[in-house]
Amino acid sequence: MTNDEKFSRETVLSVKRWSDSLFSFTLTRPAHFRFSAGQFARIGIEVGDEQVFRAYSVVSSPFAEELEFFSIVVPDGAFTSRLQHLKAGDQLLLEKIPYGFLTLARYQQPLPQDLWLLATGTGLAPFLSMLQDFEPWQNYQHIILAYSVRTRDELAYEKEIQQIAATFGDGGASFKFLPIITRGEQTGLNQRLPVLIQNGELEAEAQLKFDAAHSHVMLCGNPQMVEDTRNALKAIGLTMNRRGMGNIAVENYW
Ligand code: NAP
Repeated sequence: MTNDEKFSRETVLSVKRWSDSLFSFTLTRPAHFRFSAGQFARIGIEVGDEQVFRAYSVVSSPFAEELEFFSIVVPDGAFTSRLQHLKAGDQLLLEKIPYGFLTLARYQQPLPQDLWLLATGTGLAPFLSMLQDFEPWQNYQHIILAYSVRTRDELAYEKEIQQIAATFGDGGASFKFLPIITRGEQTGLNQRLPVLIQNGELEAEAQLKFDAAHSHVMLCGNPQMVEDTRNALKAIGLTMNRRGMGNIAVENYW
């Protein structure tokens, strides 16, 4: 197979800057690109004769006409430092098949009741995709979205999260959005996720208990957060989801 068969060339439709280091962009979506909410795409740029690809979780819903992605500018990172200058009309490469297993369909037991979505930074992306579908809102009784960032200006998509809940959640699962700002602010939740699990603050804010019989917990973001949070959840009796069984599903983000 030649490289040309593995990807298509797509056009950047819009770019939104959230802060100095965070931006989102939308791309044209080719008809062949089908994915499940929670999966990631491989996006490429051309550097001389070479094509360089990186994984990006899709923010938009599987039903959307365009593909949206959420990116950080990695200091001195060859890829994102080029991508940050992106503008409408530019072209990017998009691998034809999606990747990843952080999807709601992976859960068989326990049955859906409480859905906890725990993200740091750009790890929010797959959860935005999942929530832009009526199905999880109908299948779950409670949905908690906890989103940990360093500083308030990094809290992207705050308004959009409320809009998504209003559009898709009406009449469905109860929803709590729990922003966590770990640096510079003393108000609200301000410690790291594993600490908030250990000290019970996350459950108190959510007004819901983690429960091996009822909880589906998804973790996405900083790999160290994923590991530490997974351990904190195991310490209170939750199990990794394997072959459909168990509570915790994870995706490392870099
Ligand atoms: P981050 O360091 O991942 O912090 C985001 C949130 O996660 C903060 O609230 C942070 O808390 C928390 N956190 C960090 N480590 C944690 C842990 N072990 N347990 C629980 N929570 C934890 O910040 P970021 O701005 O999203 O990303 C930082 C760096 O990661 C970037 O500058 C870049 O180098 C790299 N990155 C790379 C890629 C890539 O694709 N290559 C993508 C994203 C990020 P604290 O404030 O307490 O640290």
